[in-house]
Amino acid sequence: MSIAANLESIHGAIARACTQAGRRPEEVRLLPVSKTVPADRIRQAYAAGVRLVGENKVQEAAGKAAELAADCPDLGWAMIGHLQTNKAKDVAALAHEFQALDSAHLAQQLDRRLERLDRSLDVFIEVNSSGEDSKFGVPPDEVADLAIALADCDRLRPRGLMTIAVNSSDRELVAGCFDRMLALRQRLAEDDRIAADYAELSMGMSGDFELAIAHQATTIRVGQAIFGPRPYP
Ligand SMILES: *Cc1c(COP(=O)(O)O)cnc(C)c1O
Repeated sequence: MSIAANLESIHGAIARACTQAGRRPEEVRLLPVSKTVPADRIRQAYAAGVRLVGENKVQEAAGKAAELAADCPDLGWAMIGHLQTNKAKDVAALAHEFQALDSAHLAQQLDRRLERLDRSLDVFIEVNSSGEDSKFGVPPDEVADLAIALADCDRLRPRGLMTIAVNSSDRELVAGCFDRMLALRQRLAEDDRIAADYAELSMGMSGDFELAIAHQATTIRVGQAIFGPRPYP
């Protein structure tokens, strides 16, 4: 299947999941995830209308951005993977949004770098909604403190929360992660110490995006269902 056909099929699935959930398809943003995908295939996605792609490694994204700068002038980069503080500079220079914010220290480094570049950056706090040791992200009960710290970072524009749910065939377990995100969003909205609006929920991937939409996801991050299987797990 071509990338354009895959995109069309995902948009169809999004529309059906929205109908079932009593939501409008415009409420759900599809973020195609192009990690490990060569620039040529990203070009095909661009030709099919994609204007923002998700990447988890900043060097990889920077390489592709350079390769695609001429052919895909309006292509933006959403960084969705854990970031070491020493690479904050590269994300500040390249990214249009950053979905894996997981510490106040990283927020401060990003803010400092953005200030120098006179840029701003949309950010999502990454939440470890499954409690697995293997997952990055802030434990749910520490998210409010990070949100409070973000208020001092003028160059960061908080948009919402991001998570990778547990990778399980048990739908109840996956749904549990999404429910925890919904409850957390509610808690932040009711917390008087937090002025910013964490309204967006970035959750759902190739295997679970329909369930995520049923649980109010506003951004779904889909890689393999668009670009095909990745060379490594
Ligand atoms: C790889 C990745 C995705 C997409 O996963 P697929 O299974 O290919 O849809 C989504 N979010 C993050 C953070 C990722 O690293």
